Amino acid sequence: MQQQGSSNPYYSRTDSAKLDLPDSVWKKVLPPDVYDVARRAGTERAFTGRYWDYEGTGTYYCAVCGNALFRSDAKFASSCGWPSFFETVRPGSVEYRIDRAYGMERSEVLCGRCGSHLGHVFEDGPPPTGRRFCMNSIVLDFEPDE
Ligand code: FE
Repeated sequence: MQQQGSSNPYYSRTDSAKLDLPDSVWKKVLPPDVYDVARRAGTERAFTGRYWDYEGTGTYYCAVCGNALFRSDAKFASSCGWPSFFETVRPGSVEYRIDRAYGMERSEVLCGRCGSHLGHVFEDGPPPTGRRFCMNSIVLDFEPDE
């Protein structure tokens, strides 16, 4: 699942330096399906991603840059068809932007390191946060615990 060792030279699990690269660069190093979601704010079809009902124990990283995003203990079973989490691994893991596409006002979730689109966050999640980070599997990289 991990992109390390692939043709993406910006992927790192240890380098936290922010990346501000144009889409033309990402287009060269990302697989087309990852690029469409990450850089074009696409959405994978519900119930098609590899993690929507996955229950492994470990950490989810940004598939574009390797930034740590979520721990599996913050993942919950959601009927929406996308992997859902109630909190990020740390406050700066992601950034937010108002998304007014499709006649809705939603809170878009972007990777805190590379700025890629990950999904949206809603306020109908479970305790303790009441939040539901609704993510696209294709932009997540799961690494099981040792
Ligand atoms: Fe990222």
